[in-house]
Amino acid sequence: MEKKSITSRAHCLVLAFPGQGHINPMLQFSKLLERQGVRITLVTTRFYSKNLQNVPPSIALETISDGFDEVGPQEAGSPKAYIDRLCQVGSETFHELLEKLGKSRNHVDCVIYDSFFPWALDVTKRFGILGASYLTQNMTVNNIYYHVHLGTLQAPLKEHEISLPKLPKLQHEDMPSFFFTYEEDPSMLDFFVVQFSNIDKADWILCNTYYELDKEIVDWIMEIWPKFRSIGPNIPSLFLDKRYENDQDYGVTEFKRDECIEWLDDKPKGSVVYVSFGSIATFGDEQMEELACCLKESLGYFLWVVRASEETKLPKGFEKKTKKGLVVTWCSQLKVLAHEAIGCFVTHCGWNSTLETLCLGVPIIAIPFWSDQSTNAKLMADVWKIGIRAPIDDNKVVRREALKHCIREIMENEKGKEMKSNAIRWKTLAVKAVSDDGSSHKNILEFTNNLFHP
Ligand code: UDP
Repeated sequence: MEKKSITSRAHCLVLAFPGQGHINPMLQFSKLLERQGVRITLVTTRFYSKNLQNVPPSIALETISDGFDEVGPQEAGSPKAYIDRLCQVGSETFHELLEKLGKSRNHVDCVIYDSFFPWALDVTKRFGILGASYLTQNMTVNNIYYHVHLGTLQAPLKEHEISLPKLPKLQHEDMPSFFFTYEEDPSMLDFFVVQFSNIDKADWILCNTYYELDKEIVDWIMEIWPKFRSIGPNIPSLFLDKRYENDQDYGVTEFKRDECIEWLDDKPKGSVVYVSFGSIATFGDEQMEELACCLKESLGYFLWVVRASEETKLPKGFEKKTKKGLVVTWCSQLKVLAHEAIGCFVTHCGWNSTLETLCLGVPIIAIPFWSDQSTNAKLMADVWKIGIRAPIDDNKVVRREALKHCIREIMENEKGKEMKSNAIRWKTLAVKAVSDDGSSHKNILEFTNNLFHP
């Protein structure tokens, strides 16, 4: 693409929800747009922006307020109070930002907003700017919430088995957790459903998935939302098609990293169980003890990410570094999953972790914590067939013996080999989707060409 001067380049504002699992893919998508000549300004909340390290220098950073600039979201006291304030103060300060950029002649061609911020589209439209909704959850989950928005699915759930277009039959244990907390507090489910309140007014609807993974739903949804495009997986190139060698990292992290690649280097191929539950999940003491005992008593190696805020839940005397195990507070998950010593991933099934394991061909054991994670667990176990869901007891705890059994299934048995080869198949399709002529690559080109020649 010919080089253009800064002012003649198309300019996108990328408005990301303040969370690792949102900033990571949106920043990664931003890098892909930059490669097509688009100028990017990343926008997140003032409080969250203080945590960000290493945003690529080519990407400008602007902030809005969620109303809790000094202490952060916990100051709100409840999710509902946070969401309400975010919506009110967020839309006011986003309006001010667009006004400021307009006055300084820093024209904006398109606002790509996290679908968790539907109000951003209303603000964007006041300025006559294109608005693209970026869905950070998967198409099955989006489909579920969309049906609640339409009124064709209600909370609390009435049916035992849920049938929706283009989805497998879903049991209660497969549904997003907010259906089950709805009666005591409807605010969380409402928050996810409201993503779809004005989506038909968006100029584009982009989703961090790839066509080959979600074919049926994508074909169906495009009849309802003609401007829907799959543009993922948005993960650094080194872990996918490898076309941009320097693209090794998402570029931002709110956590301090521990080095564990060296520890993995001398472990045999496929011998290590990697355990991580993302940036938010907080298991109780009992679950942590069961996990710790399972890993200690299992025969193989393990690498376990226990965030600093969770460390006090480790059983007394549990050693963080032994010959067979290493506990770190954070790691570069992509590098770990790409390491040949990793044999399986015990995961909470956040959508980013799910896409990452699909892209790196690693089979999983699912221990979903909340939100969309049960649905992702269902997809990985029964639809994409790359893993198993660890059974829970009556107290909703995965016991050590149950988890040991799952680990043996994946690491030692024929079933594990099948899952590994399924995972490799999804990985190959993901690489194809982002390569030249791949489904996601073509969609990104269509999106950017439209910015230059609307
Ligand atoms: N992650 C990481 N190091 C860790 C744990 C997680 O880099 O030790 C990254 C992971 O690669 C993913 C993100 O954090 O990109 C977590 O997102 P996900 O959607 O899986 O879960 P969430 O944190 O939103 O629950």
